Amino acid sequence: MPIPGSAEHPLTVAIVGSGPSGFYAAEALLKSDINVEVDLLERLPSPYGLVRSGVAPDHQKLKQAIKLYEKIAEEDGFNLIANVNVGTDVTIDDLKQTHHAVIITCGAETDRALGIPGEDLPGSYTATEFVGWYNGHPDYRDHTFDLSGNTAVIIGQGNVAADVARILSKTVDELKHTDIAEHALAVLAESKIREIHVIGRRGPAQAKFTPKELREFGELADCQPIVAAEELVLNRESEQEIAEKTNVGSKKVYDLFTEFAQQTDTSGKSRRCLFQFLLSPIELVGDAELQQVILEKNSLSGEAFKQSARGTGDNITIDTGILFRSIGYRGVPIAGVPFNESWGTIPNANGRVTDNDNVVKQLYTAGWIKRGPSGIIGTNRACSVETVGCLLEDLEKLATDDVKGGSSELHALLERNNVRTVSYADWKKIDSEEIARGADSDKPREKFTRRKEMLDLLTG
Ligand code: NAP
Repeated sequence: MPIPGSAEHPLTVAIVGSGPSGFYAAEALLKSDINVEVDLLERLPSPYGLVRSGVAPDHQKLKQAIKLYEKIAEEDGFNLIANVNVGTDVTIDDLKQTHHAVIITCGAETDRALGIPGEDLPGSYTATEFVGWYNGHPDYRDHTFDLSGNTAVIIGQGNVAADVARILSKTVDELKHTDIAEHALAVLAESKIREIHVIGRRGPAQAKFTPKELREFGELADCQPIVAAEELVLNRESEQEIAEKTNVGSKKVYDLFTEFAQQTDTSGKSRRCLFQFLLSPIELVGDAELQQVILEKNSLSGEAFKQSARGTGDNITIDTGILFRSIGYRGVPIAGVPFNESWGTIPNANGRVTDNDNVVKQLYTAGWIKRGPSGIIGTNRACSVETVGCLLEDLEKLATDDVKGGSSELHALLERNNVRTVSYADWKKIDSEEIARGADSDKPREKFTRRKEMLDLLTG
């Protein structure tokens, strides 16, 4: 049986999901010294996952990562096969037939649930829905958000909550030269929201914002960040936490909250963003739609770095018609791949997929679906390198007498299944058109927000 990776027998690898971890896995494979062909599959007609449709439009610098992905895409041995839904257009078993190995890098596509009454009332949304909508993700194009009330509530104090709060806090002038989707900008321009509550279940020392993201709230044109000084009083364990050298980010975040609390003249701006702590939503109330959120006051218990929020039995209410749950993402299972329901991830050993602790031949994983939804874009590089390292160690085990023709076999199969695929060259046409559409309004691009528009451009 030929060991794949030689000049005559290239290693063929299918990667499922074209976000950062998918591209970093492709990069690691293409940089190796073996002969390898990489097919990167993507559900949408556009690549780049959360860098395109998760990173906030006013954070264009973070989107620079795409420049590297473009270089990877132009390397010999790389193929983008987009507009393919793994699970319906092809199965994981199909990919195991056509390729020596499959790496699943599809990220964490849904949200964790609060599990409280009223969670699904109209007016209560996930951060994923709102972020997808303002970023022009086709799945969320037709969602509607009623911004006609005075108050919005965001549950969670991570960077996604910061993105949602900042987009609600900014003026049209602050957003109009970003790549925000035009349908979202039109709705935000009419927003009547003047109070944005960003709620943490633990204290200011445990907020998960990074300092850079929190600092931006002090620089907004027409929104004042508000923190009540009495909420900044720390217990002994929290003081210990922010004094710890390895936790310098939390200290900086706490210092920023202190700066916000010290601003006495808060009258000059028309919007307020209130950071509130030690509160957990216990019920969302409304007849046909959300009217009120009931929050229980918490206290912290446990040793430093392990403190958890415990309800005190005292409640407060906030009247609001709109609430965003931003309490972390969660992976979605794929047919034919083991899944850990509790963690929302694929069970694995350093990237080798496992089933009841046994390694599953040919299957690998990287990124948020491997380790859970944490870290910045670059964190996925080391994660994918680890996975590819395991795959390359396994070459002998991946040897087979079956033909693993990779992209040619996969394309033939997709053609039989009537799937219209989008190649990297096709994507570049869509990309150029988006950039041209944005030029008139001085935007980096005006995204196509419907699959059909993108596919029509290619056929028309
Ligand atoms: P995150 O950082 O894990 O924050 C989740 C927040 O939800 C925490 O405040 C958490 O509080 C809270 N939470 C969890 N379960 C809760 C519950 N049942 N009730 C109330 N609150 C609850 O997640 P994220 O904001 O979704 O971000 C995901 C990753 O993407 C992070 O690594 C983030 O830094 C990264 N990201 C980075 C950027 C950027 O660099 N600009 C932008 C967006 C996202 P506890 O601490 O108490 O659990």
